[in-house]
Amino acid sequence: MIKLMKRFEIITVFPDAFKGYLSGSIIGRAIKRGLIQVGVTNIRDYTKNKHRKVDDRVYGGGPGMVLHAEPILKAVEVSQKKFKKGKTKLILFSAAGREFTESLAARYVKNYDNFIFICGRYEGVDERVKKILRPEEISIGPYVLSGGELPALVVTDAVARKVSGVLGKEESLEENRLGVGVPAYTRPEVFKYKGKSRRVPKELISGNHKSIESWRVSHRKSG
Ligand code: SAH
Repeated sequence: MIKLMKRFEIITVFPDAFKGYLSGSIIGRAIKRGLIQVGVTNIRDYTKNKHRKVDDRVYGGGPGMVLHAEPILKAVEVSQKKFKKGKTKLILFSAAGREFTESLAARYVKNYDNFIFICGRYEGVDERVKKILRPEEISIGPYVLSGGELPALVVTDAVARKVSGVLGKEESLEENRLGVGVPAYTRPEVFKYKGKSRRVPKELISGNHKSIESWRVSHRKSG
């Protein structure tokens, strides 16, 4: 079986939010090496009105603006055409969605080749987007953000780092072996700060692999 590279398409009214993060470090290197592909679609490119307006007032009253359904549906259609090969997961970010977790990220990598992310803004997207597309609604945590752009980066990062070959050996998946939150130290062995000397735990400089491993396991924050 030929393994497809993971492809992500982020649908947003704020495309400039992504450049810096996506070109840096691990994600940037994975893109350059052809292990993942990340596209950003500007919802504004699919508006029909001449002012390229993407939002409007909410029916029933209230101060907030809502993203129009049509340009989002168009943008999703175009992405779906691009992702003809493989299985595609469609996600709409929502503060009230299913909580995104490490195990959900693992399931996504295992079960899907392509990901389409719809980023809400303002009061969110017109409800009919949900009725028509039936996306999975995902929240990255119990707080309200100004848009789905940070959630899109969070999910892209968490999924991408599980794609084989994305992490180099210096960032290998130690969390899979030992659990998350293992304390880590680097040079110097004795670090002086405000008159106090802080040492690296002696077990870690013992050179004894067994005692290093058991120190790490017993000091991790969670399994
Ligand atoms: N009043 C709206 C909040 C909109 S926040 C409501 O009750 O749903 C604007 C957008 O930011 C949302 O449409 C969603 O796409 C995104 N967003 C905000 N908080 C989020 C969270 N915790 N997880 C995922 N997306 C979030």
